[in-house]
Amino acid sequence: MKKILMIATGGTIASEMTPSGLAPELNPQQLLSFIPRIAEVCEVECLQLYSLDSTNIRPQHWLGIAQAVRENYDQYDGFVISHGTDTMAYTAAALSYLIQESPKPIVLTGAQKPIWFDSTDSKRNLTDAFLYACRGCGGVQIVFNGKVILGTRARKTCSKSFQAFSSVNYPDLAVLQDEHLLQYIVNDCGEKPVFYDKLDTNVGLLKLIPGTAAELVAFMADRYDGLIIESFGVGGLPQYEAEEFYPVIRDAVARGKIVVMTTQVPNEGSDLAVYHVGGHLKSTLRLLEAYDMTTEAAVAKLMWILGQTRDFDEVERLFYEPVAKDILYSVE
Ligand code: ASP
Repeated sequence: MKKILMIATGGTIASEMTPSGLAPELNPQQLLSFIPRIAEVCEVECLQLYSLDSTNIRPQHWLGIAQAVRENYDQYDGFVISHGTDTMAYTAAALSYLIQESPKPIVLTGAQKPIWFDSTDSKRNLTDAFLYACRGCGGVQIVFNGKVILGTRARKTCSKSFQAFSSVNYPDLAVLQDEHLLQYIVNDCGEKPVFYDKLDTNVGLLKLIPGTAAELVAFMADRYDGLIIESFGVGGLPQYEAEEFYPVIRDAVARGKIVVMTTQVPNEGSDLAVYHVGGHLKSTLRLLEAYDMTTEAAVAKLMWILGQTRDFDEVERLFYEPVAKDILYSVE
């Protein structure tokens, strides 16, 4: 029988009702007591790492989860991490950079409804997560509502329904139906995991709206080492008559700031070179673009890269080098 470590971090799945709303209170043993089937599938040991609404999960917790996996890696065949859904896609992306090439499955799951609700997705998701941790591919993945999504490609796209996550610009890896695993894509992984334990959390994200003030871009560029700008369409920076965005970015780049352009469009990614508003930037400034990467992955990847280097050439090389299929667009 496979031996799986369950690392609990909180979320709706473990929540009880309090006077002010749902808050995580159940421990992993209590969660498992709702699903005796899991004990027939594998041997489970539990680690209650956090008990947080994932709104409160931050990079320090990503590092904590990665460290827990690292410390226990050799003793288990796979890992199930129960987590709130709200920031699960960020955690999945971050773990994909902090734990690379893992031959063992590292599975995140959670639920939209607590486990004690009559109508809950908790039982299915947790059971599927353990099944996948026993039978699935290595690497970091989210198992949710019968789908297996690569950790670098996940996004929460529904705030209430059970179909909470989508795989962005990449197909689902597998589905689980009635405990049968249909593995459409075999996730390639290595023979030994490579762990990282540093992130530069001084990374900011700015979503543009029509009329965003250039001074806000200047503030963000001052405040952060790495600035991701979620622009419109395939990408570009406004050229308003009275407001100069270009010099703000040019000066930030000159001061060694790393600027990454991406898009707020949910699918298909950026391509700055298409329009003058983007091509002008791309052809004259040393900045990066996310192409088909998710914003969640771009944020986590930039933190991971800036934790290692500030040299632009090296940042550029690492950013465009695929990790766990996070970017497919080939940069010529
Ligand atoms: N607010 C909850 C959380 O992210 C939502 C959930 O788990 O579904 O922890």
